[in-house]
Amino acid sequence: MRKPMLAGNWKMNKTRDEAIQFVLAVEGNLPASIDCVVCAPAIILRDIVKRAETLKVGAQNMNENESGAYTGEISPVMLKDTQVEYVILGHSERRAYYNETNEKINAKIKKALEFELKPIVCVGEVLEERETGKTYDVLKEQVVKAFDGVTIKNPADVIIAYEPVWAIGTGKTATTEVAEDACKFIRGVLADIFGKAVADELRILYGGSMKPSNVGELMSEPDIDGGLVGGASLKADSFIELCTTA
Ligand code: PGA
Repeated sequence: MRKPMLAGNWKMNKTRDEAIQFVLAVEGNLPASIDCVVCAPAIILRDIVKRAETLKVGAQNMNENESGAYTGEISPVMLKDTQVEYVILGHSERRAYYNETNEKINAKIKKALEFELKPIVCVGEVLEERETGKTYDVLKEQVVKAFDGVTIKNPADVIIAYEPVWAIGTGKTATTEVAEDACKFIRGVLADIFGKAVADELRILYGGSMKPSNVGELMSEPDIDGGLVGGASLKADSFIELCTTA
């Protein structure tokens, strides 16, 4: 019932030419049974959208205001203008380096939905929180605050990504059991907020050193509906393998 999703998060990588090469290489090689997405730097989104056929496209961040004096920022109006479908919100790198709070992420989610951009909302604990037994408290707080006052019209259009910060870019993937436990817990929190029927339709992705060799096992878990993949999504052949294995 939940369509699997494999979303690449390119972060601050790829020039326009490199991105176009990637799109040309993956088109025709992606399974139709899952949503295959790349979230690219804003400056090359339009070039990717123009060439993408089955591949779906997302941004990596968005300002919560529609326009104004916010030097360097990208508004939802601008993202709509590029015709992207998705936007990653609340990635741990943005929380850590750009001081994004749960409140700010909440405002961004509301604005994205208002503009019919599908948010991929990231949550996840840092290592110290896991080691001191605070993981579930942190996840609950992030989810509850992110979705405070949010109305979900179409559950297929809202995606949550569980990304334990200690697993991102470290090569240290969460074990399948740890990842499933956290995703199941998050679904429970979502059920408390939106009701079980809606929570059962929301897609929850795992992210953190996901790669072709572990995507199959992770996605065989009942509450893991896909992946948000950084490093392993950069090369076309690896992205194709991720999507076909997922
Ligand atoms: P990684 O990054 O796959 O390189 O660990 C995942 C992410 O940050 O979304």
